[in-house]
Order: sequence, then structure tokens, then C-alpha cells
Amino acid sequence: MLKSCDTMVAIPGTTTDHQMIFAKNSDRPAIECQPLVQHERKSHLAKAMAKCQFVQIPQTPTTYRHVGSRPYWCWGYEHGFNEHQVVIGNEGLQSKNEEFDSPKLIGMELIRLGLERAKTAAEAVEVMTGLITKYGQGKFRNDQGVRTYDNGYIIADPNEAYVLETAGHEWAVKRAQSAIGISNVYSLEKDWDTLSPTAVDGSKAHGWWSGESNRFNFAEAYSREADRSVGSGAMRRLRSCAVLNQYSGDINVQTMMALLSDHSDGKTPNEPFQTNLPHGSSICIHHNDDGGGGNTAASIVAHLCADGSQLPVYWCSLYSPCLGVFLPMFIEGDLPSVLAIGGEYLSDDSPWWLFRQLSLAVRANGADSIASVRAGWQDFQDSLFASAYEMAKEGKTLIDQGRGAEAKKHLTRYMDENVAVMLGMVRQMLSDARTATEIAAD
Ligand SMILES: [Zn+2]
Repeated sequence: MLKSCDTMVAIPGTTTDHQMIFAKNSDRPAIECQPLVQHERKSHLAKAMAKCQFVQIPQTPTTYRHVGSRPYWCWGYEHGFNEHQVVIGNEGLQSKNEEFDSPKLIGMELIRLGLERAKTAAEAVEVMTGLITKYGQGKFRNDQGVRTYDNGYIIADPNEAYVLETAGHEWAVKRAQSAIGISNVYSLEKDWDTLSPTAVDGSKAHGWWSGESNRFNFAEAYSREADRSVGSGAMRRLRSCAVLNQYSGDINVQTMMALLSDHSDGKTPNEPFQTNLPHGSSICIHHNDDGGGGNTAASIVAHLCADGSQLPVYWCSLYSPCLGVFLPMFIEGDLPSVLAIGGEYLSDDSPWWLFRQLSLAVRANGADSIASVRAGWQDFQDSLFASAYEMAKEGKTLIDQGRGAEAKKHLTRYMDENVAVMLGMVRQMLSDARTATEIAAD
């Protein structure tokens, strides 16, 4: 199964408070744990190399402080953010390229490299496209069992957002002009702003582009899907674009969270978002036993800030958003280290594995149990909305006053307290759900 994901961005003109909001659901194989890790800013020696999984590339003098949502086995991330408010998320794409024999970068590694090396979205685009041209990415043979694919990205900072789509060593970039979503389908057709130097000639050489049309069509030349309006990825992209368009001018963090938790597969007619599109897959792909196998492993809604009035707030969900909670994270503090725990096998000290167990237990119990867990999170989520923006303002004031160390302590303690509450709640909900299962079985 090709991985499925959805990434969205609402640029300043489309949001209620005129700030950039970025959102992503990371959909991965059902039992692939995806912890949340933080790395400090680091200086590197002149001849150091960045050791990615299959290729090594020259290291940069400084890698920036950043946070990434990381499949447990991977050096790279599904999404992440850095100390300069650069946020990046990716999508799996299928190009016409045959599998390469030579090793390349993994698409998720490019996210980390962009976060480590860029102070703005435009800089991240430059870093990532430079690396793609030189080292390539996409489908390549490997003996480590890593599923490889081409990638699409949204790269945002407080002022600008870009869509970057790739095929092997080729790429196209477009600056976002409205609130948009991307999914597992190429979206840059003739409307690109910049192309890789060999995108046109390379596709002509393969016979994928005749050169007759007056403007090169990147998706037509490189997409394996000839019809990019059908299939799950196409339906999810149309749906996120339609909803964002419908709410344009009035989009806030809650809109994005609701969209990430959307179940528009036709089984739930009371969905908050209604469009006149045919029902396709949900945006939220929680694990279910009726065949899918994929699962939204983690989500983010990044609420950036261009005017310096507050700190950016990164709302992170550690499992499927429809049965969990979005916790506010502040990169100016130290993220609770428990969030980074989790590996290949089930462990009760890993928040990700706790949420997975909760999800399975609750779904086995049925609709009432699902409703009770959602209601259980709602009060906590509401209290977080209230406290997070106070913290965002207080933290910014302290930093502006040169009291950075105090701000860091304050924000760290706030995140620790929230995670402790969340872990207590998830353990209690899990215990309740298991008791309910036992009662039903008696
Ligand atoms: Zn769901």
C-alpha cells in the first residue's frame, strides 16, 4: 500500500487572525510507532558528514533546533518544525520512474534536512531542491526493507508557503496563493513557478512529454496516474481543498483540527464538513479491521506568528486525531522526553503505544465507547486552548525582556504538566475500555 497522508496550509489572508496555519495527518502502516523527538541546535566540524540511511552528504556548519515526528526506524520525519518557524510535511507520490538501482535520500530525510538547514520556507525549498537534484529521492532498491516512493511537500513559514513535488531527481515548486491541501496525487500541472534544470529534457528523453504544448505540465509528464481526479488521494485532496476554500477567510486552528479528524467516507452522515463532492476516503485514516491497514499515526496543526505578538504554537497529536488530543508544544522549551519513547514493539511507557491500545479497545467496544472517549478529551482540549495562548504570550514577553532561560523553564514545566495529565487520562480510559470489554464478554 502506498502511504497515504494529507498536508494543508492556510496562508495569512485565509485565516481568522491572519497568521499562517499548517496541518498534517501522517498516515503510516498500522503498527509503526511514531514518536516525537527534539534536537538541539548544533555546530559541526568542517568536514563532517550527515549520515542519512543510504547516502552521506556534507554536513552544514550549523543544524537548527527542531522537533520531528519520526517513524521509530527512520532518521527523517513525517513532519516537523524548527526554531525559525519553518514547518514541513510530506506526501507519498508515484512517478513513472522505474526503481533506481543506486541509493537515494528518503523523502522523510529531506524534511529533516530542510528543518536543520533553513531559516525560511524559501531557504528550505532551496536546500531541499538542491539535495534532490544532486542525490535524488524516490523509489530505489534497498536491502533494508525500506518502502521508498516519490514525495510531495508543503513547506511553510509565518509569511509564505510552497508546494514542492518530486520525481527521482526532478522537481517542481509553486508558492501557495490560497488555502490548499495536497495528498497522494500530483497537483502541480502547468501552474509551477520553478522546475529542476532537467525536468523538461529528462521527460522528453523518456518519451513522457512531447514538447508540443506551450507550457510544460509536470504532473502529466511524471505522474503514474494519468487521471489525477480519481482514487483515494485525489478524493482527499479535492475534499481538503473544497473545505478550505469554503472556510477561506475564517480558518482557525479548530477548523484544521476538525478537518484532520474528518470521516467523510459516507459512513458518518453527520460530519461537520459537507461538500458537494462524492464520498471518498476520510481525511482521518484510523486503523480499522475492515481491510485498510493504514492509520493516522500522528498529526500536527502549526499556528505560526509573523508579527512577534506571541510564540508559535505547535499542536501535536500522538495518534489518530479522532480519538486523542492535540497538545500545545513550544520549541522554546524542552519537550517532555517521554514523547520520544516508542519502538517496534508494544511498550506501556510509550505514549504512542498507549494511544494505539486505547484506540483498539475503544473501537472494539463500539460507538458508545468512541463517543465517551471523545467527550472525555473535549474538556481537556478546551482548557488547553485557553492556557496555550496565555503561555504563547507570556513566553514571548519573557524572551523579549532577555529572560530566555526563565521562559524556557516556564514552557518546559507547562508541557510536562500537560503530558502528565494526558498520560493519566489515556491510562484511565484504557482501563475503563478494557473493563467494558470484560463486562460485555461476561
Ligand atoms: Zn478517525
